[in-house]
Amino acid sequence: MIYNLQMECMDRPALCRLQAERLGETLQRVAALPFYVARGMGELAAGAVGRPAGPAGALLEHLERLPFTTKQDLRDQYPFGLFAVPQRDLARVHATSGTRGKPTLVGYTKNDLATWAELCARLLAGAGARPGDTLHVALNYGLFTGGLGIHGGAERLGCLVVPASAGSTHRQLLLMNDLRPVGLKATPSYALHLAEVAEQEGIDPRSFGLRYGIFGAEPWSEAVRARLEERFGFLAYDSYGLSEMLGPGVAWECEHRNGLHLAEDHFLPEIIDPMTGHRLPPGEEGELVLTSLTKEAYPLIRFRTGDRTVMLPDPCPCGRTHIRIDRIRGRVDEMLIIRGVNLFPTEVERVLLSFPELHHRYQVRLWRHGALDEAEVLVEPRRPQETDEAALARRLKAAIKQELGVAMGVRVATIPDGEGRNKALRVIDERSGVS
Ligand code: ADP
Ligand code: ZN
Repeated sequence: MIYNLQMECMDRPALCRLQAERLGETLQRVAALPFYVARGMGELAAGAVGRPAGPAGALLEHLERLPFTTKQDLRDQYPFGLFAVPQRDLARVHATSGTRGKPTLVGYTKNDLATWAELCARLLAGAGARPGDTLHVALNYGLFTGGLGIHGGAERLGCLVVPASAGSTHRQLLLMNDLRPVGLKATPSYALHLAEVAEQEGIDPRSFGLRYGIFGAEPWSEAVRARLEERFGFLAYDSYGLSEMLGPGVAWECEHRNGLHLAEDHFLPEIIDPMTGHRLPPGEEGELVLTSLTKEAYPLIRFRTGDRTVMLPDPCPCGRTHIRIDRIRGRVDEMLIIRGVNLFPTEVERVLLSFPELHHRYQVRLWRHGALDEAEVLVEPRRPQETDEAALARRLKAAIKQELGVAMGVRVATIPDGEGRNKALRVIDERSGVS
């Protein structure tokens, strides 16, 4: 189901005109903020206003003259420096999870909350949600944008929402058993945890009868998708978002699950080379940069998301015209460079999950040995008593070497189950003393 046919299927030239108009409005909104004035943006904003809305190229050309905004800028301007409205006009604040550093405060006006609910309704509909569906939301409620964001979207779509939040896993299983939700929204790692606890308690997650599961907030691989679908017997969909842009509802998979449609009527995407900052043509992988087009409280210009992906410009058979991005490969700063080989933790995950005797939980520990990065993978067997640890480690080491072309140590360990965290902690980076 397409929630907003008019906007999601708008023809590209009209979409482009809309983007140009909205970019002009956004630049006007931020032009007087000291942060932007100091960067000479006032003039650039004036340049955009009143310009005839030209073709896509002209819009992007204008954008390219504007400076990037980085996560460090957001931290420096904490708490209200980048807010474009006074505090009394705010309806809510949230914060990033702080996965890779200090959390950032983000804010919403009433209109922003309405936009957010609409985008989350679109994302749920993309996975097949319908008004009247019971939706179990196992994402944290609170400052984290996941829980409340999806909650607003589900209400907008007309679902019965079960605001289970994350944690109290046993109770969640009881609820699912008793209320028979049609859909589940969670992080992929917490959903796997739910399945594991169910198994320990002798419950088959397939017996809940879920039709779809929608997962995001952290990188996950196709191997995790396969494991989730096998455990729950549903179709698993990817959904991407970040607090800086609202939260969930930035990009999501439609029924074709061939990439994530990005809500281009509200966000303008670019892909850049993270080293040089130059824009890359469609089809090349790099860092996703987003400009918000409608946000009132917390507009951001050319925000460097730190997430690596690629744009997929081919039209999608579903009829939505908004561009697709490929599933997020990982965070730019989580790319591991081990003896010259670049890889993301999710690639390690793919190899690990091909071993059914392993838990989905794993961690990659990185440290520096002289000038070289060294890595070790920590894994946990599902049935420790029946496992020959040394033999398992040897087999894993060989598989990693063969599949990924790098040598990594493998150690069997007990890994925290992540209850109480918004996101799984996959990388322990001891190279610069921070993890
Ligand atoms: P933090 O960056 O501190 O974790 P957020 O809670 O706002 O703050 O999370 C947004 C980030 O989560 C994104 O920038 C991205 O790195 C990650 N993320 C969100 N959805 C996905 C997804 N579907 N696939 C991969 N990564 C995702
Ligand atoms: Zn589609």
